[in-house]
Amino acid sequence: ETLDADVVIIGAGGAGMTAAITAASEGKSVIIIEKAPIVGGNTSRATGGMNAAETKYQETAGIEDSVELFVEDTMKGGYEKNNKELVQTMAEQSASAIEFLDSIGAHLSDVGKAGGASTNRSHRPVDAEGKILSVGSYLVPIFEQAAKDNNVTFYMETEATEIMMNEGAAVGVKASSANTDYTINAKAVILATGGFGGNLEMVESYKPELKGYVTTNASTITGDGIKMAEAVGANLVDMAEIQIHPTVVQSNGALITESLRGDGAILVNNEGKRFTNEVLTRDVVSANIIAEEGSAAWLIVDQQMFDDSNVIQGYVNKGYMIQGDTIADLAKAMEVDEATLQETIDNWVGMVKAGEDTDFGRDDLATVKYDLSKAPYYAVKIAPGVHHTMGGVEINTNTEVINKNGEVIPGLYAAGEVTGGVHGGNRLGGNAVADIIVFGRIAGQNAATYVSK
Ligand code: ADP
Repeated sequence: ETLDADVVIIGAGGAGMTAAITAASEGKSVIIIEKAPIVGGNTSRATGGMNAAETKYQETAGIEDSVELFVEDTMKGGYEKNNKELVQTMAEQSASAIEFLDSIGAHLSDVGKAGGASTNRSHRPVDAEGKILSVGSYLVPIFEQAAKDNNVTFYMETEATEIMMNEGAAVGVKASSANTDYTINAKAVILATGGFGGNLEMVESYKPELKGYVTTNASTITGDGIKMAEAVGANLVDMAEIQIHPTVVQSNGALITESLRGDGAILVNNEGKRFTNEVLTRDVVSANIIAEEGSAAWLIVDQQMFDDSNVIQGYVNKGYMIQGDTIADLAKAMEVDEATLQETIDNWVGMVKAGEDTDFGRDDLATVKYDLSKAPYYAVKIAPGVHHTMGGVEINTNTEVINKNGEVIPGLYAAGEVTGGVHGGNRLGGNAVADIIVFGRIAGQNAATYVSK
């Protein structure tokens, strides 16, 4: 089947739908193809907020911030490996991105603090009672509705396989669903396929030391856009910059928050022994877990932590954590040696009392909030998980895709996790959503302008 559109967009995550809404509101006909049965991609899993500086919400709350400070924090967070021009663009256009969201009915009115930010700039949605909501699951249905209101046509369960080229310019996309092959002729193509964190073979090919890691990503986030772009000559940047998280539930990719370890949870191996300082950086703790037999470990908390934490109660309710009335019961449930686990926890309680970790040199024992002395106990099996791929297709600040000679590929745009350069060596929480909205809008705008030429 042959289809025609002004703009064809691959991927209906946050970046793709933002681009679609923007191009369509400029009066262009837009087709968006999505290989999953539902829209949203990894965007649906974004639990934090959206970083933005010099916004009206910050002003109302009396928060001082600046574009320069946002740039500085982002560069520092990315170990200065980021493409500074892209960071500058993201920061400069973040406040207008917040206005854009308001215009489609998405109000990120609460401003909190995220890791690596020197002030409050993480913009989050709240419910009627003022309770903070997860940003991704809030935004995705609003995007879908706004796209449909602007007459964007969705082709679901349809996988793009190739960017069509003519005389060096992108002129459409080949795609297929279960029973139809499509040739979609378009004047501009926007790649918004997300990263490759759900493709563990591809992850391993760029970073062999991540062999054996699970992933927090949706299963369709497989780097398709990166491969399609590479096939038409696009340059790739920072492909080995992959963010991992040490404590991920293996069966479903759910994150166990880092703060539990900070509060006093310990990690034990499948013999029931501690094997690491639990509060080292994410990459080091992850490597230490992978070095253990089975490349996994258990995170253990006690009843006192459970009583004080909605988060832990949630993990238990969702079935992530198992419970034991005594340490021996917990050991049985974990299938580790009872005497060993008993000794590990007794030893730990003693070290917390003494304020010194004589086994692994954890330096916060004098001040740690909980000592794991109160039964019952709870444990969750975790392993490191691939979380975000910072690398991808090279773009300029107009989201035009750049080829291996440093030239623009006419008609080809990319936005979101499929691109590289914005986050450098490490992405800060809140910057993924800023990235997809700011650059999704730029891609939609520039594709629309290009089509009109
Ligand atoms: P971003 O955060 O950059 O917007 P997301 O992960 O939220 O990225 O969304 C990317 C979307 O692209 C996902 O919904 C995914 O299923 C879709 N996608 C990935 N590869 C293809 C493909 N080959 N064809 C169509 N859709 C794709």
